[in-house]
Amino acid sequence: MEKKSQPCTEMSCGKTEYEKVFSVGMETEAQKRTVLLHSCCGPCSTACIERLLPDYKVTIFFYNPNITDRDEYERRRAAQIKFLEEYNAKLSDEDKVNFIEGEYLPDDYYEVCAGYSNEPEGGKRCTECFKLRMERTAQVALKTGNVLFGTTLTVSPHKNYMLISAIGSELARVYGLEFLDVDFKKKAGFQRSIELSKEYELYRQNYCGCEYSKWMDK
Ligand code: SF4
Repeated sequence: MEKKSQPCTEMSCGKTEYEKVFSVGMETEAQKRTVLLHSCCGPCSTACIERLLPDYKVTIFFYNPNITDRDEYERRRAAQIKFLEEYNAKLSDEDKVNFIEGEYLPDDYYEVCAGYSNEPEGGKRCTECFKLRMERTAQVALKTGNVLFGTTLTVSPHKNYMLISAIGSELARVYGLEFLDVDFKKKAGFQRSIELSKEYELYRQNYCGCEYSKWMDK
């Protein structure tokens, strides 16, 4: 299962070859705050990372147990890593973006979304899906010494910023953290994510992630 250049997982978090490469400069950028940024996919992360880098030292947390199946998960994960590798190559050591991968356990998603299969996108199923991914991000932020956590989810025009903001604020209160409350779709953030995805030739899926969303976003 472990391949060359595998990132560390949140559970093992022993520094793998990949993670070491992307940790360069972590201690040297004292003036910037660090943030653990949950990423739903590589394409959405592009514009968010670009926007945050002038002010923050970013670590991407790729945690998406909502994705339909292992093949799709691997395609999205590969797109995320491809972007980080190519983007990081253009950055100074101080700015390089780190990467942590969460566990891909679809049962965790089905557990929280049970009974909501007929909900429309943006309904109760999505609320639980956001909570699951954002709470895990807060937990990993706590574990990795990041006071600040956020999510790329707000870059999508399909996602309710006010809801995500409320979930983030509540999690920050519960875990004693700060939520990076940014509506990334503003300032043409979504359009920029499309541009960057094209520029970096990233796989860009045509549905949100879960099996229920497969027919919705086409
Ligand atoms: S549509 Fe997207 S946000 Fe909503 S439950 Fe499915 S994967 Fe999660």
